[in-house]
Amino acid sequence: MNTSASPNLPDELGHFGPYGGRFVPETLMHPLVELEKEYTRFSQDPEFQKELDYYLREFAGRPTPLYYAERFTSSLGGARIYLKREDLLHTGAHKINNCLGQVLLAKRMGKTRLIAETGAGQHGVATATVAAMFGFKCTVYMGAVDCQRQALNVYRMRMLGAEVVPVHAGQKTLKEAINEAMRDWVTNIRNTHYVLGTAYGAHPYPMMVRNFQRVIGDEARRQILEKEGRLPDLLIACVGGGSNAIGLFYPFLKDESVRMVGVEAGGEGIVPGKHAARFQGGSLGVLQGTRSYVLQDEHGQIQLTHSVSAGLDYAAVGPEHAWLRDKNRVEYTYATDDQALEAFLRLARTEGIIPALESAHAVAAAIERAPKMAPDQIIIVNLSGRGDKDVEQVAARLKF
Ligand SMILES: *Cc1c(COP(=O)(O)O)cnc(C)c1O
Repeated sequence: MNTSASPNLPDELGHFGPYGGRFVPETLMHPLVELEKEYTRFSQDPEFQKELDYYLREFAGRPTPLYYAERFTSSLGGARIYLKREDLLHTGAHKINNCLGQVLLAKRMGKTRLIAETGAGQHGVATATVAAMFGFKCTVYMGAVDCQRQALNVYRMRMLGAEVVPVHAGQKTLKEAINEAMRDWVTNIRNTHYVLGTAYGAHPYPMMVRNFQRVIGDEARRQILEKEGRLPDLLIACVGGGSNAIGLFYPFLKDESVRMVGVEAGGEGIVPGKHAARFQGGSLGVLQGTRSYVLQDEHGQIQLTHSVSAGLDYAAVGPEHAWLRDKNRVEYTYATDDQALEAFLRLARTEGIIPALESAHAVAAAIERAPKMAPDQIIIVNLSGRGDKDVEQVAARLKF
C-alpha cells in the first residue's frame, strides 16, 4: 500500500494523480488563481489561524466531543464505537468549519459580499450565518425544487438576512445552483467571494475545504489517544462531495494501521438514476471545474441521482477521494435509503441522538462492520450533522 504521497497532494495545479485540476472558462481562471494565492498566504499566517481557532471555539462550539456510544456498541456486540459529534456544532453540521475559514479569508481579501450554492440548505444556512456575524451581504442560489423540499432552511436563510435565489433551470437542484453561483461570481468578482460548500470544484477549493475541515480529524486523533491510548482501527464517514470524510481521514492518512471507509448514497439500489454512489456506477469525467468520478451516460450526459439525504445527492465526488480509492487507501461502499433509515432510528433509540440522514449512512456502515470486529477494536464514526432537518421526511416515510 503506497500511502506516503497522499498527504502531500494536490500538486501546484491542483491535481490528485489524474484527478482534480481546474476546468473552467477563462473568465474564472483569474479569480481562482487569486484565491489560491491569498489562501496560500493566509494559511501560513499564524494570526489567521489564531483568529479562525477563536471563532471555531467561541462561535461554533469546538472542540466537539468524541463520544463513546456504549449502548449502541453493546447492541451490536463487536468493536467499540465512538461518535465524532459534529452534529453539536452551531447550525447543526460540520459545514460551519469551512464557512468560518472562508469568511475570514474573504474579509482579508477585502470582499464585502458572499455567495453560495446549496442543496438541502445546510451550507446555505451556514454561509448566511457567518455572513450575518461578520456583516457581509449574502446571496444563496438554490434549485427551485430544493427550495420547496427544504422550505424551513429557506426561511432560516432569509431570517439571517440572506437573499435566497431559486434556480429554475434544468433539474432545478444543486447542479444548476452551482452554475448560477459561478455566473454570479464572474460578474461580481470585485467585491464577492464564492463560498463553495464541499471538497469539490476547481483548484484550490478541494484543497482549501479539506484543510478547513481537517480540524475534525486532528481533534479526533488527539481525543482517541487520550481516551484509549491508541489509534482507532477504523474510521467511517459519509461522502457527498466529500468534505466531512476527508476532514476526518486526512490527519490519519499516514497511519497505516487505520482503515477508512467512505459511504456513498445507494438510494434505491445501484440502478442508473436511483442512487448517488459515484464509485459504483460512475466513470472518469469532468463536472463543474474538476476531473473525478461522475455518474454519466455513454454520451457524457450527467445522470439523474437519488438519495433520501439531499446532502449526498450529487453526481460527482471530490477528486481527492477518487485518488485515495485508486491508492486503496480508503474503501468506498454505500448504504441504501432503507439502511440509512434503519440506522437513523437505531441510533436515536439506543443513544438518544437523532443523526442527519447523511450521517445515518455512516452509522449504517458501522452497524454492518462492528459485529464482525473484536470487542477490543475501535471504530470512529463521523456524525456530520444532526437530524432536526430530516424529521418531517422520516416521519412521512415511516408513517409515524
Ligand atoms: C452537506 C452534508 C454532508 C455531505 O457533504 P460532504 O461535503 O460530503 O461532507 C454530510 N452530512 C451533513 C450533515 C451535511 O449537511
